[in-house]
Formats: sequence, C-alpha cells, structure tokens
Amino acid sequence: MPYRAPVSEFLFCLEHVVGFDRVAATDRFAEATPETVAAMLTEAGRICEEVLAPLNRTGDLHPARLENGVVRTSPGFGDGWRAVADAGFVALAADPEFGGLGMPMAVTSSVNEMIASGCLSLQLAPLMSQGQIEALEHHASEELKAIYLPKLVAGEWNATMNLTEAQAGSDVGAIRSRAEPNGDGTYAVTGQKIYISWGDNDFTENTIHLVLARLPEAPKGTKGISLFLVPKRLPDADGNAGVANSLKVVSLEHKLGLHGSPTCVMQYDGATGWLVGEEHGGLAAMFTMMNNARLGVGVHALGAGEAAFQHALAYAQDRVQGRTLVADGTGTIFDHADVRRMLTGMKADIFASRALSLDLAVSIDMATATGDDAWIARAAFLTPLAKNYGAQTGAAVADAGIQVHGGMGFIEETGAAQFARDVRVSEIYEGTTGIQGADLVGRKFSDGGAAAFALLDEVAKTAAQFGNEALADAAEAVRHTTETLLSMELNDRFAGSVPFTRAFALTLGGHYHAKAAMAQPDGHHSRLAASYLARQMSAVPGLLVEAVQGGGDLYALSSDDLAA
Ligand SMILES: Cc1cc2nc3c(=O)[nH]c(=O)nc-3n(C[C@H](O)[C@H](O)[C@H](O)COP(=O)(O)OP(=O)(O)OC[C@H]3O[C@@H](n4cnc5c(N)ncnc54)[C@H](O)[C@@H]3O)c2cc1C
Repeated sequence: MPYRAPVSEFLFCLEHVVGFDRVAATDRFAEATPETVAAMLTEAGRICEEVLAPLNRTGDLHPARLENGVVRTSPGFGDGWRAVADAGFVALAADPEFGGLGMPMAVTSSVNEMIASGCLSLQLAPLMSQGQIEALEHHASEELKAIYLPKLVAGEWNATMNLTEAQAGSDVGAIRSRAEPNGDGTYAVTGQKIYISWGDNDFTENTIHLVLARLPEAPKGTKGISLFLVPKRLPDADGNAGVANSLKVVSLEHKLGLHGSPTCVMQYDGATGWLVGEEHGGLAAMFTMMNNARLGVGVHALGAGEAAFQHALAYAQDRVQGRTLVADGTGTIFDHADVRRMLTGMKADIFASRALSLDLAVSIDMATATGDDAWIARAAFLTPLAKNYGAQTGAAVADAGIQVHGGMGFIEETGAAQFARDVRVSEIYEGTTGIQGADLVGRKFSDGGAAAFALLDEVAKTAAQFGNEALADAAEAVRHTTETLLSMELNDRFAGSVPFTRAFALTLGGHYHAKAAMAQPDGHHSRLAASYLARQMSAVPGLLVEAVQGGGDLYALSSDDLAA
C-alpha cells in the first residue's frame, strides 16, 4: 500500500486546532505565510511518497552493515538523504545565516512526521542533525558555528548525539568518558559510547559527533559533564573534511527493528574535540538537543503510526472474510464492527497525538519569537506529554495494524509487522516512558502545578464552548489529581506518573478533537471527535485512580514474592 502524505490534515490542524496563525503573525516567523507552509508541506509530501516510502522495506531487508570499519548503508538510503537535504528539510528551522530556512518548529514537525512515515530508519539521521544544529546555534563559539553549521545545514555532513555508555543510560550523570585539554584550545576525548544512531554512513563527507565527557577534576554526577564536538574527519584549512580523527565504529547492534539505521558502538581514543558551551555545562547544552529530540521522537513514532494505519485501512477494505451484519456493506472485513473499532481508534489517536505535538511545536515557536515565560513553561510541560503520547500512539497503532491484518499481520511480507518492530524503540530512546513520567510529576511540577492548571483551564474552556460534559469532567478530574499528586511524596508520585501522563494526554486529545469538531461541524473531524470523546474520556478516571495509588502496594511485594 503506497503511503499518501496527509498534507491537508496538517494544514487543518495548524489552522484550526493549534493556532498557528499566532506564530505566522510574529516578526520572527513572518515568512511562514499560509501559502509558503502549504507549498513546503506539499513538496515534502511528494518526496516522502515518491522517494522515501519505497526505501522503508529495503532498509528492513538489507540492514546497514559494518565493512572494514566503515558503515555501508541500505541501498538507496544515500539518495533518500540527498532528496531530504536538497529540499532543505534537514534544516528547515535553522538560522538563514548558515543556510537554513528559519521556519517554525511546527513546520519542521509536520515535515518530520511525513519523513518518518516514509522511512523511519532514515528519518533518524536528519532528526539527529536538527538537534545538533540547534545545540550549536545556541552554545557553540562563532568559530565552530562558521565551520560546522553550513555543512550540517546543507546535509553535506551529518550529526550524532553521544550520551549513552554501558553504565550510563537513563542516568546520564554516570558517564565516564573523559576529555583532557591539549593545551591548544582542543581536547583529547577518550571513551566508549553505545547505541549511537547514525554513528557513521557512506553518503556524507563527514559525521560530527556531540559527545558528553568529563574534564579532569570534574565534579561528580551531572554537574561535572561537558559537551564536545568531535568530527570523524578533522576540518582542513579551508573547512573541508580532512584527516581522520582518532575514533572508530567498533560494531553495529543487532536490533528488533530499525534495521536501516546503523546503531553504533563508538570508540574515542584521544580524539580531537572542541568544547561546546561552558566547562561542566554540558548537560544544559545537551538538553537543547534533547528537548528538540523529545518532540522529534514523539513525532517520529507518530509518523510510523500514520503509515501503519494507512496500510491497515487499505488491507481492511480489500480482505473478504465472513458475513457482516451491515446492510449494503463493502463485503470486506472493513464492515466488521470490531475492525471499525480498531481503525477508528487508530485514526482518532493519531489525530490527537499529532495535535499535541503541533501544539508543543507552536509553544516552542512562540517561546522563540516572544521570549515569554508563559510560552516557555507551556512548552516545557507539553514536552514529556507529547513524547510519551506520540511514542505510545505509534506503538499501539502499529500493534493494532497487525491485528487488523489477522494472520497476515504476523507474516513479514505485508509490512505490518515492520512498523511495529521499527517503532517500538520510540518508547525507550530520548528518555524512556518512565523517565518522561518522572519528569512531568517531578521537575515539571516544581512551579506548584501552574503550567498544568493553565493547560487544564484551556481544556475546560473548550469543553464549555463545545458543550461536552465528558471532556469537562476529564479536565476537572485531572486537575483534582494534580492537586493530590502535588501533596504526595515524590516516589509515590513517580509510581503513578505514567498513568497520570497518559490521562493528561488523553484529556488534551479530547480538547484538540473538540476544537476540530467546532471548526468542521459537518466533516469527518466532527464524527472522529464524537468517537474519541465517547471512548477515550472514559479511560481517564481509571488511569487517575492508578495515578494516586502511590507505591506502597508495589514495594510490599518482595523480590521473592515476584519470583514465586
Ligand atoms: C536503537 C537505539 C538507538 C539509540 N540511539 C541513541 C543515540 O543516538 N545516542 C545516545 O546517546 N543514546 C542512544 N540510545 C540509548 C537510549 O537513549 C537508552 O537506551 C535509553 O536512554 C535508556 O537507557 P538504558 O538502555 O540504559 O536503560 P536503563 O536506563 O537501564 O532503563 C531500564 C529500565 O529502567 C527504567 N528506569 C531507569 N531509570 C529510571 C528512573 N530514574 N525512573 C524510572 N524508571 C527508570 C527505564 O524506564 C527502563 O524501563 C539508543 C538506544 C537504542 C535502543
């Protein structure tokens, strides 16, 4: 089933649901007129349909491999990268001073979702570059910017993000890689990093690694981490890729999915690097990249979900099996009530999750354009919600896609299984679902719940305008639970953080659906909203019961109890 880019859905959501006109009205993003945005999304959709989608299966069947220390990528991936780069889609948001298009994050996010639908494995490559470009724009010296940004923005060079080590995954503070000053302003970086996405390839001239490491005498934990730019090949006097640096790809991981994306074990042996940001200030600099990537990974998963949904819908409308109780039906499984339940749920969840991601993107854009604290707080609060809901929706939709296919879903040739295998990692990388939950009820509650309550006020207003009691009740229940959680011990909050995060995201989903229905009272959005509100709002109270349960029952069970 060929992928069809849902460009009109993006444009509808931007215009009617997330208030993109406010972004376009700022001086900073004045060039993002409706015509420009529509033209960009249309062109992105065309590239994703024609160039990237055909690569998805190829990447799965012909994984990236390591040959004499060099990564050989899946057939056609170089062409796919070039198509994305030449259209300017690696760096839509980047500063025009360095060749970027200076577009808002909401446009980048829409394009990223389509690239992910086309080929999830390949999409990780531009996603890593986008994060690194943003980190360098904010934290690198002018000299580094001048050498690296134009090449990264043009897609001549690609980028990676090196946090993880064997003993340091979710706990970044445990990293041991080290950096010694060379005395000439550069550093010698030594250590091993694991799981590094797109750590090498055979289609860009250079790969630029951002590596977290410790300086000599650095304080313990996250306060002693610094960030270094370490190129695979050192730039020559003209700024072109020159001699090889002291680093190598040791091996590639064998994974459940995402076979087209080389996941590398990287070894740095006194590799020459440059400090980015302040000494011991690496995490702050890396957070610029990680926040961008958190939105990016939620959207990345959602893109896979959209492709899996389209696949399942096409199969359901073709497969004949059993007699249905529907008069004048199509005669296919599409008429079975339970298949309709799955397909409608998939479509409705995708819309809600897309709207949440675009709402976050608009908040980031408004924060960038205005510097307003309220937008900054709104964006920060929405980040873990959008990451978790996007990743969970992508995984759940891909799983439902297998179910819609029946036995053929379990057989690789339909491609339904690949979506589920590829997307699963989205719930793990860029902060696991548990880490996002802890962030929401921990750090993001440090304002006493102000950002949460402000969002819930918006939902209550929409519920009143739309006249939907289920949505109003859900918003009130989440507000009450927020107050309860704020009074609880931190570890008890953590115990309920993931169900709470989901309940909050579903409630926001109801808010976006209601807005869509009000904008399109006679269209498909109105019918989709009715279904989402009737089905998903009822899940909210149950999730909230678990959210305030605390951890007592969990810790009451000993390891012996669990092993019994
Ligand atoms: C395919 C792939 C690509 C990746 N790409 C990159 C990359 O490009 N760059 C990079 O640096 N890393 C990358 N990673 C690493 C990824 O970010 C980590 O795997 C992830 O952060 C989790 O760390 P971990 O694997 O050590 O799991 P752990 O941290 O050991 O987590 C195990 C379990 O414990 C839970 N847990 C741990 N700490 C907490 C806590 N404080 N609160 C609640 N629960 C907790 C987790 O939620 C999880 O369920 C990639 C990983 C994969 C699989």
